[in-house]
Amino acid sequence: MTLPSHVDHLVVGAGFAGVALAIGLQQDGEAFLVIEKDESLGGTWWANTYPGATCDIPSHLYSFSFAPNPDWTHAYSPQAEILAYLEKVAAEAGVLDRFHFGVELLEASWDDEALLWRVRTSAGELTSTTLINATGGLSAPKLPDIEGIETFAGHLFHTARWDHAVDLAGRRVAVIGTGASAIQVVPAIQPEAGHLDVYQRSAPWVIPRGDHPFTTAQKRRWRRFPALQRAYRARLYYSHEALVPGITRWQRLNAPAERLGRRNLAKGVPDPELRARLTPRFGIFCKRILVSDDYYPAMSAANVEVVTDPIARVTPTGVVTCDGVERPVDVLIVATGFHATDPPIRHLVRGRGGRTLAEAWSGTGMATYKGTTVHGFPNLFSVLGANTGQGHTSVIVYIEALTGYVRDAIRTLRRGGYAAVEPRADAQARWNADIQRRMRHTVWMRGGCTSWYLDDHGRNPTLWPRGTGAFRRAVREFDVDAYDVRAAPR
Ligand code: NAP
Repeated sequence: MTLPSHVDHLVVGAGFAGVALAIGLQQDGEAFLVIEKDESLGGTWWANTYPGATCDIPSHLYSFSFAPNPDWTHAYSPQAEILAYLEKVAAEAGVLDRFHFGVELLEASWDDEALLWRVRTSAGELTSTTLINATGGLSAPKLPDIEGIETFAGHLFHTARWDHAVDLAGRRVAVIGTGASAIQVVPAIQPEAGHLDVYQRSAPWVIPRGDHPFTTAQKRRWRRFPALQRAYRARLYYSHEALVPGITRWQRLNAPAERLGRRNLAKGVPDPELRARLTPRFGIFCKRILVSDDYYPAMSAANVEVVTDPIARVTPTGVVTCDGVERPVDVLIVATGFHATDPPIRHLVRGRGGRTLAEAWSGTGMATYKGTTVHGFPNLFSVLGANTGQGHTSVIVYIEALTGYVRDAIRTLRRGGYAAVEPRADAQARWNADIQRRMRHTVWMRGGCTSWYLDDHGRNPTLWPRGTGAFRRAVREFDVDAYDVRAAPR
């Protein structure tokens, strides 16, 4: 399918955000396209196929409110089921013919005379009135900066680029990292690996997951009585929301969660010496909370060594720690996260005056207005932009809220006969000052850890320091008063 020379709205990225936008824009009768660099739809759920990949947010909350799925098989769905759900939702909404797969954004520049975006992609050039970035914060894998890693002669891959051709059976495997991805991979591959070294830099908090299959009767009930499913989802939403005060303000409220984590550790790790090394040294929720019932038992297995000495370097045949020990490795798996605070798209998008997002953010770090628009970048929207997550609940709540805001912005453009909207610098500065003022009280800043939530300035540009309801209220309507608007050129 060739690209047209112009489209009203160009969405970049075909994950949950891209699909939500496509469905919303279609309902509004807008002309739009979605380009996606990967070969298929799904975003993170297409890319992350590592063994054990499962959502750590309950399925009935990690799904669109407008497309409930009574058929979720488990409380926490595996990757393939989430991907199938997203494909089904897009197909049933009839938007798939708007998606161009295998098309990468190379550069987008705002033309301040014609008042449109000039976009260069791997499949050709086009212009668009709005540019909607739906590329996600956790899409560019981050490789660890470890001396000699490029010399490793065995198999080496990131969890988000799993090499399924590599057989782990009986091999010496090493996993670097103990975050959300690693704690799912380790129990999944431990029974198969001959020997597994897990390199832990900081011990995470891990609370029980309590996954369980849904019964046929439950699924039948939800199908017949959608109100029951909505009530179930609402209960999940509010039970997650109850964590917000402890995370954002009063950390002593997190004591029960810490007790839960400690009990989970004690239950899963009988050896006191290993337990001590797996005990977190920071406040719970400071880093992304992890949920697992099988991580600690896997870490206690006879074929697993938990290595806590820092890594000094990687050699062609193994990993050397600072105590001088070299452990041989056949397969090296890096579970070291993503470029969350420095997404690659910041180098590709040029606003007024030719400045890239990276240049606009060089002094302050990533900052948007209401988590979506950016001063100096007319008609650019991100779903999701800065400070639009929390770690305690479903990101889809934020995706839906911002999709509504973008749709309202487009309606405002049409109603007012405007060609361009751009948030005023003072509105954006006030929005961010308020976020960072509130941020000071959060466990992310006071919990005694560093995490991917923080950028190189020690600032938190990723998370929302209030309840989810406050975010939804803030973006319920497009507040055109906070924007400079420009009429269409004659
Ligand atoms: P992550 O949380 O950033 O974890 C990276 C891990 O690698 C950390 O343990 C980190 O140690 C370690 N690490 C990084 N560089 C290292 C180095 N040079 N040497 C040694 N260790 C190093 O990444 P992730 O596990 O991929 O998860 C990222 C986010 O993706 C999650 O927080 C979550 O939001 C999302 N995710 C979600 C799911 C889901 O089920 N929904 C599943 C997977 C991921 P330190 O802790 O010491 O920095």
